[in-house]
Amino acid sequence: TDCLKRIERAEPALNSFISVTAEQALAAADAADRARADGRAGFLTGVPLAFKDIFCTRDVKTSCGSKMLDNFIAPYSATAVQKLDAAGCVSLGKTNMDEFAMGSSNESSYYGAVKNPWDLTAVPGGSSGGSAAAVAAGLVPATLGTDTGGSIRQPAAFCGITGLKPTYGRISRYGIIAYASSLDQAGPMARTAEDCAHLLGAIAGHDPRDSTSAPHAVPDYAAELDAPLTGLKIGLPREYFGDGLDPAAAHAVNEAVKVYESLGATVRDVSLPHTRYATSAYYVIAPAEASSNLARFDGVRFGHRCDSPEDLIDLYKRSRAEGFGEEVKRRILIGTHTLSEGFFDAYYIKAQKVRRLIRQDFLDAFDQVDVLMGPTSPTPAFDLGAQKDPVSMYLQDIYTIAVNLAGIPGISVPAGFSGARPVGLQILGAHFSEARLLNVAHRFQ
Ligand code: GLN
Repeated sequence: TDCLKRIERAEPALNSFISVTAEQALAAADAADRARADGRAGFLTGVPLAFKDIFCTRDVKTSCGSKMLDNFIAPYSATAVQKLDAAGCVSLGKTNMDEFAMGSSNESSYYGAVKNPWDLTAVPGGSSGGSAAAVAAGLVPATLGTDTGGSIRQPAAFCGITGLKPTYGRISRYGIIAYASSLDQAGPMARTAEDCAHLLGAIAGHDPRDSTSAPHAVPDYAAELDAPLTGLKIGLPREYFGDGLDPAAAHAVNEAVKVYESLGATVRDVSLPHTRYATSAYYVIAPAEASSNLARFDGVRFGHRCDSPEDLIDLYKRSRAEGFGEEVKRRILIGTHTLSEGFFDAYYIKAQKVRRLIRQDFLDAFDQVDVLMGPTSPTPAFDLGAQKDPVSMYLQDIYTIAVNLAGIPGISVPAGFSGARPVGLQILGAHFSEARLLNVAHRFQ
């Protein structure tokens, strides 16, 4: 009830939730109380949280931030949601997001922009902007987000919280509405790495319903949080400190690195030479996959359907024209174009080759160092409405996007401020090194 009261008070200003499920939350809280009374409580029993509205939640509207799914009540829950339900967590509802997770500012949501709790004239970042804002404002202690090109880490940085994008395959994608299936990954967003460790432990693992989920055993992430950092080798990718980086964000990262040196780490310069091609490759691959994934929203089986269609083609055309917003349409068109005959080799295949080189850059770097550190985003949160041109918005993703192309894990931790707005330190590791990342992040907090 405390969380519900806080949500009621803060939401008119923040708009971080699309649905608040008060009734279900109270029932779940009662169940948690009973479990506690019977001695059946686990570590997460009764912990309030919320899910980005991209996670299917049984009997609850799952809109993905789109008019297209404004009337969609999911008939089942995503695996990650089921696992947290089973652990006794109490979901308070579904958080706001960029439409179909396409965006870096949460301004493309059909349900309106989310405000940054640190400064209501600033964006919270995106696409998991509602999730980040809800945690930063203290409405819930934790949320789940998804990250296709930075959507957990960048809003975490903009809102001064901690957000982890795990290795591709670490968490089942079953029941998460697909944006770009080869890049999408769910992850925890919370105040601290410690909280993220507990959530990750509960949701990670193989799922027979997602053939891309990894069979690797799930370690006890919380057990390794305090491990000493003596001898930790940190690499600073020189490409992550280039032109366009906010000086205060750079300063915050350098100060953080000094803290690590004082904890016994050593630091060296490394290079990720193909970084400059990452944004271009991503904005070919992600829209290509999106154009295919979003073909299912045709007005027939679920989602928005136009009024009195003349025939089937009219039904498809008008349902999609009415249901999708501008950014989603732009990406579907880009994706359809790059996948079309005559352009496929020049764009899609080329982008896949670049993706391979980017992955190799990281593998080479992790032969030399244990983790990489840099800024999460080139700037702190920008003003609402400030990024009008889609390409300048895409360029915001420069430090986060390559991570998804490579499939490696990354975490953003609060590192200080630029003016009154928070900035993040991003820590990257080799595939399945989440325990190490959480340990490194925790020792800083
Ligand atoms: N900003 C990126 C995009 O618009 C990343 C979004 C995400 O990670 N879902 O595609």
